[in-house]
Amino acid sequence: MRRTIVAGNWKMNKNVGEAVELAKAVVQATKGASTETVVCPAYPCLVPVRDAIAGSHVVLGAQDVYFEPKGAFTGKVSCDMLKSAGVVYVIIGHSEQRQYFHETNEGVNKKVKAALAAGLLPIICVGETIEEREAGKTEAVVRDHVAGAYAGLSKDDALRTVIAYEPVWAIGTGKTATPEMAQEVHAFIRKLLVELYDAGTAEAIRIQYGGSMKPSNAKELLAQQDIDGGLIGGAALKADDFKGIVLA
Ligand code: PEP
Repeated sequence: MRRTIVAGNWKMNKNVGEAVELAKAVVQATKGASTETVVCPAYPCLVPVRDAIAGSHVVLGAQDVYFEPKGAFTGKVSCDMLKSAGVVYVIIGHSEQRQYFHETNEGVNKKVKAALAAGLLPIICVGETIEEREAGKTEAVVRDHVAGAYAGLSKDDALRTVIAYEPVWAIGTGKTATPEMAQEVHAFIRKLLVELYDAGTAEAIRIQYGGSMKPSNAKELLAQQDIDGGLIGGAALKADDFKGIVLA
């Protein structure tokens, strides 16, 4: 059985004080939930948030990482740095990274491998733009993203990953994929994992949905057979909204 995982991607929101306050509110609001609950603040807030959630059920995640271990890479943060800050999960290949910062499938693959080698658990984002969906390219794009991210990964490595299917047109737009649309792509991703690995591995890997998920639509989305949680942007910035999704 796959344990549901809901992760809040706080993006470039919340300064240190605000992040600590939100983290504490999330701990209170989601107490007793059976869902695995993750918060992903910006880099400067990781350690203060780690301290704010210490001893609770809430787990720390980061929003990105660089694949090189160290050196002259101004502005970048290594896997070891994240690990030493108490990070457990790291989001890799988010569409905003792909769209604004030239993230490629090859770069995603390098980051996933570096993260796994360092003992971090990658949340790998995949998903099509509206132009790609309207051109009937959703499956081709998702296949490319998944094959690229998992290239050269062993089954044991794959089992330590989470996938987030995030149709780009649904991120931050208020437009959500219908549960049926989302389920169709999630089932397709699971089929890809069977092709890449085997049925048992595909059954074990969790696939989150992301894209304007909120308390009012979470239940229906999460009821779909292959939707194992959510990667949440906007609705993760208010503890009550996040709670509504975690409890759904
Ligand atoms: C995201 O950026 O991962 C996301 C799902 O954002 P939102 O929930 O705001 O659409």
